[in-house]
Amino acid sequence: MKCLLSASTVTEEGILQLCKSMLEEAGIPCMIQNEELCDIKGAVPFTECFPELWISEDGDFAKAIEIVSGWEHSPDNPHPAWSCPHCEELNEGQFTTCWNCGNEQGET
Ligand SMILES: [Zn+2]
Repeated sequence: MKCLLSASTVTEEGILQLCKSMLEEAGIPCMIQNEELCDIKGAVPFTECFPELWISEDGDFAKAIEIVSGWEHSPDNPHPAWSCPHCEELNEGQFTTCWNCGNEQGET
């Protein structure tokens, strides 16, 4: 098990969810740790309960980084980012469903 990403804000926690679904689509087993801890207010010091994305198999780690960084830094992303018509959240173009509210792209 290796930690791939750690979220320090609510926004980045959304990105963790996106990365997790991308990795799962690529067949890489992964999980988000600390998610539950954050729901228990005050149970742990705030700085210790940031959600983290963990890769189950160390052998998948390099590929996971490739997928995540490829998504983050792709200079010629064929899918422009779109803002959700429902909650106005900005979503990356390859995702057709709003990570924030689950609304379909183009749905009103
Ligand atoms: Zn939305």
